[in-house]
Amino acid sequence: MISNSNLINGYLCKDKEKNRIYLSHQNFNCPYCVKPGPKKIYSNLWRLGMHLKTQHQTEPRINEIIENIADLIKRGILREIKN
Ligand SMILES: [Zn+2]
Repeated sequence: MISNSNLINGYLCKDKEKNRIYLSHQNFNCPYCVKPGPKKIYSNLWRLGMHLKTQHQTEPRINEIIENIADLIKRGILREIKN
């Protein structure tokens, strides 16, 4: 469960459209984790974004990656995975 403080301090906010995009169910890999073995899958953009922010904060392209993916979801290029 995502707490309200996380929503505000992370990428999410009170903007419902933005929240829909960030919580849209997708499968994402971290582009910076290079450990061998199966990669951890992040099931929405918020989770990937928080991982990048906490584990790879020195990488220069974090915001660009998140914004690009958000744009693809917004434009319907990436579609939500329905269970
Ligand atoms: Zn990573």
